[in-house]
Amino acid sequence: MSKVLIIGAGGVGNVVTRKCASVPEVFSDIMLASRTVEKCKKIAAGIGGDKIKTAKVDADNVDELVSLIEAFKPELVINVALPYQDLTIMEACLKTRTHYLDTANYEPKDEAKFEYKWQWAFHDRFKEAGITAVLGCGFDPGVTGVFTAYAAKHYFDEIHYLDIVDCNAGDHGKYFATNFNPEINIREITQNGKYWEDGKWIETRPLGIQKPIEYPGIGKKESYLLYHEELESLVKHFPTLKRARFWMTFGERYITALNVLQEVGMTSIKPVKFKGIDIVPLEFLKAVLPDPSSLGQGYKGQTSIGCQIRGVKDGKQRTYYVWNNCDHEKAFRDANAQAVSYTTGVPAMIGAMMMLTGKWQGAGVFNVEQFDPDPFMEKLPEYGLPWHEEVDKPLPVEKRQ
Ligand code: NDP
Repeated sequence: MSKVLIIGAGGVGNVVTRKCASVPEVFSDIMLASRTVEKCKKIAAGIGGDKIKTAKVDADNVDELVSLIEAFKPELVINVALPYQDLTIMEACLKTRTHYLDTANYEPKDEAKFEYKWQWAFHDRFKEAGITAVLGCGFDPGVTGVFTAYAAKHYFDEIHYLDIVDCNAGDHGKYFATNFNPEINIREITQNGKYWEDGKWIETRPLGIQKPIEYPGIGKKESYLLYHEELESLVKHFPTLKRARFWMTFGERYITALNVLQEVGMTSIKPVKFKGIDIVPLEFLKAVLPDPSSLGQGYKGQTSIGCQIRGVKDGKQRTYYVWNNCDHEKAFRDANAQAVSYTTGVPAMIGAMMMLTGKWQGAGVFNVEQFDPDPFMEKLPEYGLPWHEEVDKPLPVEKRQ
């Protein structure tokens, strides 16, 4: 029986709140706080009853956060605001000795970095305070790290090659929209690509490497090599990896629109003067694009995200593929959300459950792959994310096209 404070009332915040509310035996008292309290109230009203308390908080302000935490006294803060708020929320957790969990690594506002170093630097202070921070507990990062840990634990003596494959074969009927916060999404895609090979990072042009990959239940989809933050923690925690890559699918129309927006400067994060005021083009673009949490209604099709791994077991080569497919319409029926918010919010709730029930313990700052994957894998299907596996079959990412 625990109190939990959820910060951020966007697409993901909606799913985490609903999912926590569905497990009152673990999350007995829930507060949802965000910058715009009306959004919290709308989510709370959708859940019904007086189950969810709401509050307004500016998560960029440590003192405001500390006051809220001291008033509500949660055991755990689930941060599903934006990556810009990670450090202030961690600071407030330290000051109040409260456990912490998030789904995306800290980002400085003025530079797209996707690095863990700022949050890993909190390790000793969290350890001294005797509290736990779990970083990156959505789907990717999140479940992809748990999948990798599960593969390493049960199927391999050493893992050598890891390909994370992320396909969204859904159709929301809009000309151009991003499935999670547009600012973060576009920053991620327009940066250089990067992958790990033979002990070093290889950089590529943005979306410079592509190939069709077959996705279970979906078929072949053009997939692009991207840098994704979990690669940094996975190569650190699985040093036997010779290569680690991340692939994501994009439709032709999405790429064309993105190229145009980029060419005309609309994806830039450098402020420009407009009628005497500084505006950041990407922030303005976010304001005119559809809100990701509004895409759920009528969204059709599936996502498929998984890990394809090659390594050795008992001296023999082995392959392993583990994945989840999530249907947008099912996600909408279950949590009033599209599948991208759903596949992020469900693992965040399960990670919180692991912490509050003592399955994942430790003082310090951790990535999900450092914990026992088994109890988490067991809960995924129970809360809406069934997974499947194939052993010693040809890996789709390695097939010649
Ligand atoms: P949204 O933009 O829909 O929601 C973000 C929420 O955070 C909004 O309610 C926003 O408030 C609130 N917020 C922003 N700034 C502040 C602040 N200073 N103080 C308080 N609240 C604030 O984003 P999503 O729900 O799509 O994404 C949430 C997080 O999940 C992001 O960090 C994203 O990167 C991560 N994510 C992780 C994935 C994974 O698999 N690991 C996949 C998808 C997303 P307001 O309503 O006022 O704007």
